[in-house]
Amino acid sequence: MALIKCPECGKEISDKAAACPNCGCPISGGNGVNSTPTTAQIRVVCKTNTIKVDGQATKHGSIVTVHVNGSRSILLSAWGGAVGAFGSSVNATVVAGHKYDLDVHMTITGRMLYLKEVSQFV
Ligand SMILES: [Zn+2]
Repeated sequence: MALIKCPECGKEISDKAAACPNCGCPISGGNGVNSTPTTAQIRVVCKTNTIKVDGQATKHGSIVTVHVNGSRSILLSAWGGAVGAFGSSVNATVVAGHKYDLDVHMTITGRMLYLKEVSQFV
């Protein structure tokens, strides 16, 4: 544990503190509720395709962490299996601090990748 100076009141406080105990100023980098998430997590549910999330190759069951500043559009692509040799790609917007399941879904126009927001991975 290191001591840092509170940016608001100047008192020395733990760098692990979420907020200054003296003035209540939130401390960035602390472990408390005030720290802003900078990543989103995507779990690959689909079993039958080769899938890339934001350029990273993944396999079934893996959880991919993507860096997100607020929210960001990422590229999802799949080929093989249900989507065939030519594959399928979509852009989807993810939000920092959120979790998503990624699967391949049958639609009228064919098989498409889709993201579904989940509260937790089960
Ligand atoms: Zn303070």
